Formats: sequence, structure tokens, C-alpha cells
Amino acid sequence: MIRKFASGLVALFLLAGVADLAPTEAQTGAVTAIRCGRLINPVDGSVTENAVILVRQDRIERVGAGLQIPAGAQVIDLSRYTVMPGLIDCHTHVLLQPEDERGAPPVVTKSQAFRTVQGVAAVRKDLEAGFTTMRDVDSEGAGFADVAIRDGINRGIIPGPRLLVSTLALTITGGHMNNTGLNPDIQIPEPAALTDSREAMVAEVRRQIKYGADWIKLYATGTLRHVNPVTLESLSQVSVEDVRAVVEEARRWGRDVAAHAYGGEGANNAIRGGVRSIEHGMLMNDETLKLMVEHGTYWCPTLGVYLPESEEDNTDLRRRIVAHHREVFQKAMRMGVKIAFGTDVGAYEHGTSAREFLLMCDYGMKPIDAIRSATTRAAELLRMEKQIGSIEAGKFADVIAVEGNPIADIQAMKRVVFVMKAGQVYKSPK
Ligand SMILES: [Zn+2]
Repeated sequence: MIRKFASGLVALFLLAGVADLAPTEAQTGAVTAIRCGRLINPVDGSVTENAVILVRQDRIERVGAGLQIPAGAQVIDLSRYTVMPGLIDCHTHVLLQPEDERGAPPVVTKSQAFRTVQGVAAVRKDLEAGFTTMRDVDSEGAGFADVAIRDGINRGIIPGPRLLVSTLALTITGGHMNNTGLNPDIQIPEPAALTDSREAMVAEVRRQIKYGADWIKLYATGTLRHVNPVTLESLSQVSVEDVRAVVEEARRWGRDVAAHAYGGEGANNAIRGGVRSIEHGMLMNDETLKLMVEHGTYWCPTLGVYLPESEEDNTDLRRRIVAHHREVFQKAMRMGVKIAFGTDVGAYEHGTSAREFLLMCDYGMKPIDAIRSATTRAAELLRMEKQIGSIEAGKFADVIAVEGNPIADIQAMKRVVFVMKAGQVYKSPK
């Protein structure tokens, strides 16, 4: 399988007309030189013309303007494009498809095997959209299938981003990610882990880590159906002591916790309890934002997923929530909250996450800061800043190119033409 895949890569190089690399050379790690038209460095915000990146095996060896290309190097010509580090999406659902958000829940209509097949197709689309690393936060009722997809990618069986997975999310009976409106006499698997006591939460953390979770996902508040339509308060699902117990148990195993929290007491408890990131947060107030700054908590806003997609969704309540989300985003920028790129892709089409960049900029973020949120900032959130997030010597050779200049027009993020992950090319300009 791996051999076949490697020869597929060679075919890609040949198709792109960039070189005549023999498989043995590729495997022994000859140098690859990438000629960049424009190179964006999110570390200092600089844009360099005509830079060269030298890649050996899975790592960046050197990078700079006017670097000499060593004799015999494989050359990839991206001189017509803008090059930047591989993108990082900190909030994805590879096992969720837009159709799963409509009609009967997928735990009722689809086998985990079928959902895994869909997940395999999804990760390829996300990789080809420029996302070389993703934190996948909840398998949405597909059990440990996210672990299987991650492992399949790591073993070179299927193409996909580097995945950090969180398996089942922790929730409470009646809270978020429960099946609703069903006959209580029928037993149907719940999409998340129901943990109604602190002891149950701790035990579930252990079970998930045992079976492969890289992160723990906690539902600290309910979902849209739990939001009070008058006050916009969300349902708090955990106490600060609950969160602390989950965070401490996760940390014992070297894991971090991501909390779904819209705002209010649930969000405050999550932050005080020590979660590393708040997901969504569209109903947060000044007190909560201040707490995030004090505790150094990251925020994945997932702006796009709350926009109404149909007339049915376009309710007065939804419009108020979206307007609030925008305000919170602008306040968070002013207050210095650490904003990391997260999309909730899966709730909408895989491979289309770039739309989040457009919204972030539409809400007032500078394009370079939006790119930072998906590179350097996201790498910090994942505690991977020494390995990914920028194009620097020693880091993984995660490199993408887009058509156009995203600093001048963020729409360019939708036009990803080249993707390299850990030195392997997965997409080349036609
Ligand atoms: Zn989500």
C-alpha cells in the first residue's frame, strides 16, 4: 500500500511537470526545492518575494530569499503563487456530513462503517483545501472511528491531515448531543458519552484515552435548543469542580480539554476549571472574555457554522445569536483573547473551510491575523508550535500555495493549488 502510494506521488510530480524523480531518490530523502512567488511568514507578518524553501524528507531544511538550489534537487515551481505554512483547523468533525444535520440522526440511519467511509473521503477534501493538521472535536456518534481514520492517515493508507482526535464528547443526560424526541422505551445509542457525575466523567476520560483520544471534548453548555430565547442564556452543564476533575485527569495522561461553551456560567466554569480552549462562545459577555485573557484560554469562534443556511433556520433568535457572535469576536480582538481558527466543518461541506477566513476578515480581522489564527496561534493551542505553524528549519514540511494574494484579498484562501504535508505532495497546480 505504501509503495503504491509513493509511486502515486511520483506520478503527481510528473503530471505537474516539475521533475523526473526516481522513487529511490524520493525515499532516500534527496532535497526538494520549492520556488515561491510570494512567501507569507505568519511569525513576523512578512511577505518575501522569490523565496526558496529546501525540504529534506519530512522537514524544512532551510528557507530564505535567493537561497541557492543545490545541484540535483527536485524543484517545485510555485513562482506564480503565494506560499504559506500548512493550515490548521482546531475544530472539525471528520465523521459528520452536512446531511447528518438534517432529518433523523446518523446514529439511527447509518452504520459506523459507512460513516467511516464518508470520513475517509472527508479528510482528503480537507487536506486538499490546505489543512495539513486538524483537531477533530467529537466523532458525533461514530465512536472511535476518528482514531481509525487518524491511524490510517499516519500509516500512509489514506491521505489526510495530521489528526488530533477526541473520540466521544462528555455530556449530561438531557444536555447537548442527546437524541431528542424519541420514545423512551426504545434503546438507541447516544451520540456522546452521558456522564452524570464527576466520577463518571473521570472514568470516561480514562476510557477514551485508553482507546486513542488525543484530546478530551467537554460539553460545558447545552446547544441552540437550550438557549433562553429572551435572555440568550445558555444551559450550564458543569460545575467548576467537574471541569477541574476532567482537566486534572486529562493532564495526568498528557491531554488537554476543549470545551463547547456558548457563554454564561458554563463558559466561566470551563475557563476557571482550566480547559485549554472554548469552542463557539458566541454568547459570551465581557466578564467571560476577561476571564479568558486572565487564564490564557484560547477561543475557536466557529463563526460560519451559525449562519442560517435555510429559511427555516433564519429565525429571529438565530439572527440575534449571529449578531452577538460578531460583537463578541470584535471585543475579543480588542481585549487580546487568543483566537485560534476553528470551523465546525462537517456541519457544512468538507473542503470548504476557507469560508471562515472570509467571515473573520468581514468582522474586522486583518488577513495576516486570520492566517496567523490558522498557523502559529493554532499550533500553540495544540502545543505543537515547535513542529508546525510556520515554515522554519526543523519543522515539518507542511507547505501550501494559493492563487492570488490573500493579504490583499482573503478570497484567495479559497484557491489552494498546492499542498505538501510532511514533505509529501498531495496537490499540485494543474
Ligand atoms: Zn463542533
